[in-house]
Amino acid sequence: QVAWEVDEGLVDRKTLHAKAAIAKLAASEASGRVIDRCLQIFGGRGYDRSYPVERLYRELRVDRIWEGTSEIQRLIIAGELVKRGTGVLQMPAAVGGAESR
Ligand SMILES: Cc1cc2nc3c(=O)[nH]c(=O)nc-3n(C[C@H](O)[C@H](O)[C@H](O)COP(=O)(O)OP(=O)(O)OC[C@H]3O[C@@H](n4cnc5c(N)ncnc54)[C@H](O)[C@@H]3O)c2cc1C
Repeated sequence: QVAWEVDEGLVDRKTLHAKAAIAKLAASEASGRVIDRCLQIFGGRGYDRSYPVERLYRELRVDRIWEGTSEIQRLIIAGELVKRGTGVLQMPAAVGGAESR
């Protein structure tokens, strides 16, 4: 959705920045929760380096750090909400409906 909004130029650059921060924050936090549960399901094997779950756990953990930590994404989103209101939460639709995309 955000990539499409960038392409269409429907939303100003700062709001798009905050929308991208929402996408990055949501995806990296969700994937962290999912892989944590996966590791728990696998028990000790999930923590064992010879199983791929351990590698995925380690690799997904960095997504909350690099390309902007989760705290910095939250600061970007909060700043946008304070300065320009809740427009960042709205999702413009394509003219003619979603099927025209
Ligand atoms: C494997 C790996 C590869 C990387 N590759 C690259 C790369 O190719 N190019 C590149 O440019 N960088 C790269 N980085 C750096 C990465 O972008 C930084 O680690 C990231 O921006 C966080 O900065 P920092 O590590 O200095 O943490 P810090 O800025 O020291 O932050 C430490 C902690 O404090 C929190 N914090 C900081 N400021 C605030 C604040 N104002 N309010 C609330 N909390 C705050 C952070 O969220 C974090 O939890 C890489 C990092 C890793 C781990």
